[in-house]
Amino acid sequence: MKIICIGRNYVEHAQELNNPVPADPVFFIKPETALIRAGMPFFYPDFSNDIHYEVELVLHICKVGKHIQEKFAHTYYDKIGIGIDFTARDVQKICKEKGLPWEVAKAFDGSAPVSKFLPKEEFADLYDINFSLAKNDQLVQQGNSGMMIFNFEKIIAYVSRFVTLKMGDFIFTGTPAGVGSVVKEDNLKAFIGDKRMLDIKIK
Ligand code: MG
Repeated sequence: MKIICIGRNYVEHAQELNNPVPADPVFFIKPETALIRAGMPFFYPDFSNDIHYEVELVLHICKVGKHIQEKFAHTYYDKIGIGIDFTARDVQKICKEKGLPWEVAKAFDGSAPVSKFLPKEEFADLYDINFSLAKNDQLVQQGNSGMMIFNFEKIIAYVSRFVTLKMGDFIFTGTPAGVGSVVKEDNLKAFIGDKRMLDIKIK
């Protein structure tokens, strides 16, 4: 499986990192080794001094697709979860300055904790899903799927022009404003609505 991540999908987050609001989705890929499932800790890597959290809704892909039309895209995901796109912001800054790929800042082991998934039928409105992140029980990020620049269908249609989606792939759909640093011993809790979906210790 692969983990596809959308960047700069919320206007206020693009602005907080001084990035332009994109005309097309920006995406990158994390390998399977980035995945950590609920209950496992995140081990702070030795190559960064500025690991940031980015809380994101995550789609679970349920069938193979290439060149998926936007009008059919909703049939290619069946469940929604929440994840954290951990980012070595100091390393990413150097990548950006040098025009280098982002893998060293984004694709490292453990950089993609993902919760269990909820069937999409459980959501009253897929375009109005509230989600949030608390660091040490203080609210730090708050988002709503209706605030995305590119909605779930547009993301699936765009990404599948380039990369075949397969059953079991995950798509991180971008983070709202409020990203920030973690240090060892911090705790992160991610919520969909009021439901606590992830509880991660930084070690
Ligand atoms: Mg992200």
